Amino acid sequence: MKKYFEEFNIDCGFSQRPDGNSLDIRNAMAREAEVSGGLVVKANLVHGIDICIIDEEALSERPYLAVEDCDGLVTNLKNVTLTTTHGDCIPVFAYDPKKKAIGIAHAGWRGTADCVVSNLIYCMCEEYKCKPKDIHAVVGPGIGACCFEVDDDVVDYFTESMPWTEEYMARRSDGKYLIDLKGINCELLEVEGVKAENIFIDPDCTCCESSKDLYFSYRRDKCEERMLAYIRL
Ligand SMILES: [Zn+2]
Repeated sequence: MKKYFEEFNIDCGFSQRPDGNSLDIRNAMAREAEVSGGLVVKANLVHGIDICIIDEEALSERPYLAVEDCDGLVTNLKNVTLTTTHGDCIPVFAYDPKKKAIGIAHAGWRGTADCVVSNLIYCMCEEYKCKPKDIHAVVGPGIGACCFEVDDDVVDYFTESMPWTEEYMARRSDGKYLIDLKGINCELLEVEGVKAENIFIDPDCTCCESSKDLYFSYRRDKCEERMLAYIRL
């Protein structure tokens, strides 16, 4: 399990292959939550940009809640574990140590192009009065610019709404493009006002051959297993 935000004394991580499949890890978390009175929330991902706010009302669903049609979650409640699953798509974690609010988002190429992380930061600011300059973010392990090969249609989808993303693309001799999704998500966070020094980009690519023992990769292996990203106050 890779851990983040340890300096803030909150629990945040991204599972690795030896930890097992996301399903089993989340089930174990739900069993723990049953004992401790906590709640485990799962975003049922649709590659969209909707963020769900987990408030007191959600606690009636203890110990487990699956939220339909959403790719991000935010809360300021303790003992609530926000989770998303990943098979190459980029996890983005956010924490505001001043307002004690957390957020998580799932950003594949479509979610990245539609700015799901911008929405995540916006929701934290609207709901918990966070200031972007106080928010710390992690752009977690996911498919890197080394492996994320796409065709013109994806390139056009990005550049039509955000011409600056061209900077994060490289055209190969065979006409295909490589896109740096982590770099784009990082820049989107900065556009929202998150300070560059408060953003950590995990360099791990889930799809590289060299990470076969560490990560499941949908693109590399067409496997059904996923990694679990989670954050909890
Ligand atoms: Zn790679």
